[in-house]
Amino acid sequence: MAGVHFEDLSKTFPGRGGGDPVEVIRQLNLTIIDGEFLVLVGPSGCGKSTLLRLLAGLDDPSNGEIRIGTRPISNVPPARRNVAMVFQSYALYPHLSVRDNLSFGLRRSQARSTFQRIQDQAFRSTRALPQSLRVKSVREERIEARVNTVARSLELTELLDRRPKELSGGQKQRVALGRAMARNPEVFLMDEPLSNLDAKLRTSTRQRIVELQRELGTTTVYVTHDQVEAMTMGDRIAVLNQGRLQQLGTPMELYKWPSNIFVAQFIGSPAMGLLPVTVGANATLILGSKRIQVEGEMVEPLLQREGQHLTAGLRPEHWHLAPPTNRNLQAEVSHCERLGNEQIVTCRLKDGEHLIQIRHDTETQVIAGDQIHLETEPTGWRLFENDGEAIRRKQ
Ligand code: ADP
Ligand code: MG
Repeated sequence: MAGVHFEDLSKTFPGRGGGDPVEVIRQLNLTIIDGEFLVLVGPSGCGKSTLLRLLAGLDDPSNGEIRIGTRPISNVPPARRNVAMVFQSYALYPHLSVRDNLSFGLRRSQARSTFQRIQDQAFRSTRALPQSLRVKSVREERIEARVNTVARSLELTELLDRRPKELSGGQKQRVALGRAMARNPEVFLMDEPLSNLDAKLRTSTRQRIVELQRELGTTTVYVTHDQVEAMTMGDRIAVLNQGRLQQLGTPMELYKWPSNIFVAQFIGSPAMGLLPVTVGANATLILGSKRIQVEGEMVEPLLQREGQHLTAGLRPEHWHLAPPTNRNLQAEVSHCERLGNEQIVTCRLKDGEHLIQIRHDTETQVIAGDQIHLETEPTGWRLFENDGEAIRRKQ
């Protein structure tokens, strides 16, 4: 077992068709703790797959170093890095059975003598014969035992003799996971492994992966763009944008205290609503003709910022339908999505014409065109400077 350290890591690709070089990973410093499940998120093209490929050895960094445990791996060939990668596309060998797909990496990662090679071949070609006619090979028997254990833990035992084309999407993905597990690597790399599965299968496979990771305790880097996977699977989330690390923390830290506007908008669905405000006296926010009282950990920093223009953010669950009073904000409903257990109401605030989304139970019916009144959770407000950085709370 081992942690993973990215140290000042950069990757630049040469420009396509004579264009400028593209810096895809920019001076990344990140430590993944031994045994941790780290979820890596970020918009398409921000460098997530590139980072996994650098770790797996499928690409070389332009600068910096990666260490697995204390071992620098720049000069270690991919097969000797002891990492196993699972791709979105499964990448199974179509001409091999499930059994041979599972054992492929095991066979490849161990050097053999010519004699051993012949013995292994003999073992494989006689393994269907009665016991007394089989050729023995300690190595092959060890591989077979490992394959059987992995197959049992992923419920693949019945499928061992099938070819990939005879499997469903979910089964193929389990084989891909099993192939990674079979090698018992120091680090698992998973690049959006569930995105080809339907919603229900995604949920069950998601839970299975988390359980397996806990059982095995293998350091794991899991790339996803799915909000639920990001929030529920990892010990910590790393948010990447344009090759730069934006924030690293537990899912709830990122959700409650995003360190900048990018993270605030990226984590959580619907996204946090943003409004331009002026800071008033006594920790209030001035929005058009309204004055909103803030409470909690943002009070202290606001008291020192009276008169400043900032961006204020509030999550959809922190807006509440309320009676029409002078204090409450008025809005017009522009769209309403009912999801069964809740509804997402998109509305335009009268003060400033800003569009926001609110989360509400389904008791109260609202439809497009309705005039509504809103109050806000005084402790829910987050504030951002003009450069997008969050104003730190008083701790
Ligand atoms: P993500 O997985 O976050 O969607 P990638 O790591 O696949 O993003 O890609 C990041 C950026 O690097 C993209 O703009 C992509 O076009 C570029 N890129 C990836 N691989 C290469 C390559 N081999 N040559 C040139 N550009 C590449
Ligand atoms: Mg990718």
